[in-house]
Amino acid sequence: MDKVIIAIDGQASTGKSTQAKKIALYLDYVYRDSGAYYRAITLYLLDNDIKFDINISDEILNGINIKQTYKNGQFSIYLNDNDVTNRIRGYRVSLNVSNYAKKPEIRKFVFNQLRKSGKSNSLVVDGRDIGTVVFPNANFKFFLVAEPRVRAERRHKQINDNSVKVNVVEEEIKLRDETDSKREIAPLRKAKDAFKIDVSHLTIDQVYNIILKKIKSDYIKN
Ligand code: C5P
Repeated sequence: MDKVIIAIDGQASTGKSTQAKKIALYLDYVYRDSGAYYRAITLYLLDNDIKFDINISDEILNGINIKQTYKNGQFSIYLNDNDVTNRIRGYRVSLNVSNYAKKPEIRKFVFNQLRKSGKSNSLVVDGRDIGTVVFPNANFKFFLVAEPRVRAERRHKQINDNSVKVNVVEEEIKLRDETDSKREIAPLRKAKDAFKIDVSHLTIDQVYNIILKKIKSDYIKN
């Protein structure tokens, strides 16, 4: 039987991964965080002093092995067997990831990993181009947006570090959205058949219920 794919795309810090994890848990599907792949690759390249303005050769990419797990409500990501779950969320990676994510060879690497997972599992995947490029035939597609200030305040709370100002977080988020939307390959944009949700003034549970209701009603229709 064909595997079911649920794509949750959208702007940075709109709670895509929170929603994707909840849906995956509810449906007992595999969860994949596509942004975490880009972040782990970025971390590897930064640590090895490999700049984004050169071609990233197959030889370099073959030295990168990434595994994601989601067990008992806990997401983890391993880079060459090292747990980098926390390191990939750091400011250095956040600031640089969009520049590395523009590169076709890196996008192909992530694309292949996701496609491979989707062959043998039903998936919930969050990202930017899941419903447009990676899985254009996904069974369900959602696109989350929110006002930049709201997103910055949420991310600021998560970072939980008073030395980081909310304005700085807002600028980083806006810059990332701009780079992600304007790039030539797989830009951040809503798939025509995606269901858009503005989460600015909604709680996590409200968004979850909207997504679940939509999935259930479309299941019945089909
Ligand atoms: O989802 P997250 O904010 O962790 O993603 C980090 C970055 O990875 C994004 O800002 C974007 O540059 C890149 N990304 C992407 N395509 C995806 C997921 C993430 O280009 N499908």
